[in-house]
Amino acid sequence: MIVVTDPIELKKIVLEWKLSNQSIGFCPTMGTLHAGHMDLVKTSKSQVSKTIVSIFINPTQFNDPKDFEAYPKNTETDLKLCEENGVDLVFLPSVEVMYPKSTTPIQMSIPSLQSTLCGRTRPGHFEGVLQVVSKLFHLTDPNIAFFGLKDYQQFRVVSALVTELNFPIQIVGVPTKREADGLAMSSRNVRLSPKDRETASLIPRMFQLAKKTLHGGEKNILIWKEILTDFLLTGSNVKIDYLEIVDPITLQPLSQLSGELLLATAVFVGDVRLIDNEILVSP
Ligand code: AMP
Repeated sequence: MIVVTDPIELKKIVLEWKLSNQSIGFCPTMGTLHAGHMDLVKTSKSQVSKTIVSIFINPTQFNDPKDFEAYPKNTETDLKLCEENGVDLVFLPSVEVMYPKSTTPIQMSIPSLQSTLCGRTRPGHFEGVLQVVSKLFHLTDPNIAFFGLKDYQQFRVVSALVTELNFPIQIVGVPTKREADGLAMSSRNVRLSPKDRETASLIPRMFQLAKKTLHGGEKNILIWKEILTDFLLTGSNVKIDYLEIVDPITLQPLSQLSGELLLATAVFVGDVRLIDNEILVSP
């Protein structure tokens, strides 16, 4: 496995691969890797000949500096996991390399997709995601890029980016990998105290309740939302950042329960912010 910190070195290797007709898959991450990230790698390896993983905690997508500081870092273990899973190249740039002091500030946004969910409660977050993903796409020049559906809004925003700006890259969404109790795997889970970890299982249970009540005939979106909110709030140390029911394509709020819908939530358990979502179909 090759580990590269220098973008020029990276571009040289990518060019060599391209010249020898190798297809490239790219999995951008912020590290503290787990089995969910490795599902992106596995999917990539089944579809392309070379797989690149980037590990970069991107400061421009954190609207809260404290959250950025607290973000876990585990480079050594990450590299080991990548090697064990057959990653061909890990790109490990520093903040200075990605954002040199001489940089002219740039701002990108897709307003209609950013007005809800994390885009609403984390102002500036998707501007940062679009910026770093664009840079990483140019540096890694992949045929296919893999994104987890756990971060469904990110998947939609990046899909729109490549469509609208004609990036010659296919975006593939990978299903959410979960712990035994259903909690979505996340690098942030390591920050939960044992008690808060227990409380966090309310999130997958809330999705079970959502399915049960939807199939049980609940038709009123406001009542449904209240049932789900009340359920989450039975946990101590829980604060709901948002719980929204939106159209899976436009991400705009729905006013009634019919057809396909995205139920998405962000919940603080203690000071750890956890997100999850599922596409459900109202019968
Ligand atoms: P992160 O390191 O949290 O920025 O995530 C990097 C990529 O891994 C993103 O595309 C995430 O959506 C994806 N990812 C994170 N957690 C999971 C999971 N539990 N299952 C599948 N993909 C995931």
